[in-house]
Amino acid sequence: MVREVVLLGATGSIGTQTLDVVSRHRDRFRVKALSAGGSRVDLLAEQVREFSPEFVALPTAAAADALRAALGTDRPSIRVGPEASTELAGLDCDVVLNAITGAAGLRPTLETLARGTTLALANKESLVIGGRLVTSAAAPGQLVAVDSEHSAFAQALRAGRAEEVRRLILTASGGPFRGRTVDQLRDVTVDQALAHPNWSMGRVITINSSTLVNKGLELLEAHLLYDVALEDITVVVHPQSVVHSMVEYVDGSTIAQCSPPDMRLPIGLALAWPERLPDVAAPCSWAERTSWTFEPLDDETFPAVSLARTAGAAAGTAPAVYNAANEAAVDAFCEHRIGFLDITATVRRVLEEHLAAGADVPSEAGAAWVADAQLSIEAVLAADSWGRRRAEALTRKDP
Ligand code: NDP
Ligand code: MG
Repeated sequence: MVREVVLLGATGSIGTQTLDVVSRHRDRFRVKALSAGGSRVDLLAEQVREFSPEFVALPTAAAADALRAALGTDRPSIRVGPEASTELAGLDCDVVLNAITGAAGLRPTLETLARGTTLALANKESLVIGGRLVTSAAAPGQLVAVDSEHSAFAQALRAGRAEEVRRLILTASGGPFRGRTVDQLRDVTVDQALAHPNWSMGRVITINSSTLVNKGLELLEAHLLYDVALEDITVVVHPQSVVHSMVEYVDGSTIAQCSPPDMRLPIGLALAWPERLPDVAAPCSWAERTSWTFEPLDDETFPAVSLARTAGAAAGTAPAVYNAANEAAVDAFCEHRIGFLDITATVRRVLEEHLAAGADVPSEAGAAWVADAQLSIEAVLAADSWGRRRAEALTRKDP
């Protein structure tokens, strides 16, 4: 049967690779709708011509006008405004693939789940910041991971029962600065941080891979998706990015999922889940000498994972603040307002302020931590915008 796909964030790294998978499996998938942020309208117009979606969503009227002009026709129907992607998530379809970057993906994620549609989730930020709001809205099997590590967990978890799992081993490439000391990180440039050794990805996730914030988000993502305690998830550095993650079982057996780095593999599996599509990506080659290496994470040089553990242990609005402060700090770093080490230093400071602010003391909206038991989408969004503003203010301060 043909699956109807709604793709949010179509012009990005994951979005374009998703369309590549769809184009090779036209007998299995049909693109019902596409959304984008509006900065690459020409690419979006090309996608519309190739995949003929019924609906397109863009956040601004200017972007919609530019698309209409590029297409020169009235079709497809264009939805406009900040909630346009959320509207597409509510369409009747088989699977929504959310590949928007950042906290903007939260409402589309919740809308997809509320509609009962399968959610193929690349936008880890929405799961991490929404926390229990997202997991409690998802029926068993409704939320399917696109992130390569979490796709690896889903595959390795097929090898045993939930109560037989002892721990998850989350692999990290270590990014472009693996092996460096704090001193050697002080003056690294934006271009150096953007040069990931194994993956070609969007700007935010590439910087997040260099600071290890991406691994912090993935730790929280794994905890929420597979209901495994944070202390039972170990991060290990594996520079080749071939072993995408592993599950250790109670008898001492470890099951790994391996493939050369290519996001089309987890994308294809998420779209067709629980089935596998033929020939999505090249398998491992055994014809030449190969070595896969593993090393412990240097938590002192890269504190982002332990900060994520702090945020995840507190839960409630803390992960939203971790993510928001990071997004603002990444902008500040890319605009040369702060140095590389200031990214995680800013996240630490904003997170600590949030956790220290008592809810009983009147303060700015979103400043005080709200626990899981009182969590609402309004509290998450308030914490998100407070975390962003606070990080922004800190990064504009003169040294
Ligand atoms: P990109 O920056 O390449 O793409 C982001 C996409 O989202 C673009 O299509 C962009 O549109 C669109 N977008 C941005 N803001 C909005 C908005 N407000 N409304 C609608 N669309 C919007 O990012 P990636 O593809 O790299 O990453 C997407 C998500 O997938 C992230 O959450 C990331 O963490 C996750 N992910 C990515 C991986 C990768 O290999 N790239 C691997 C694992 C997870 P426009 O082009 O107009 O800006
Ligand atoms: Mg990943």
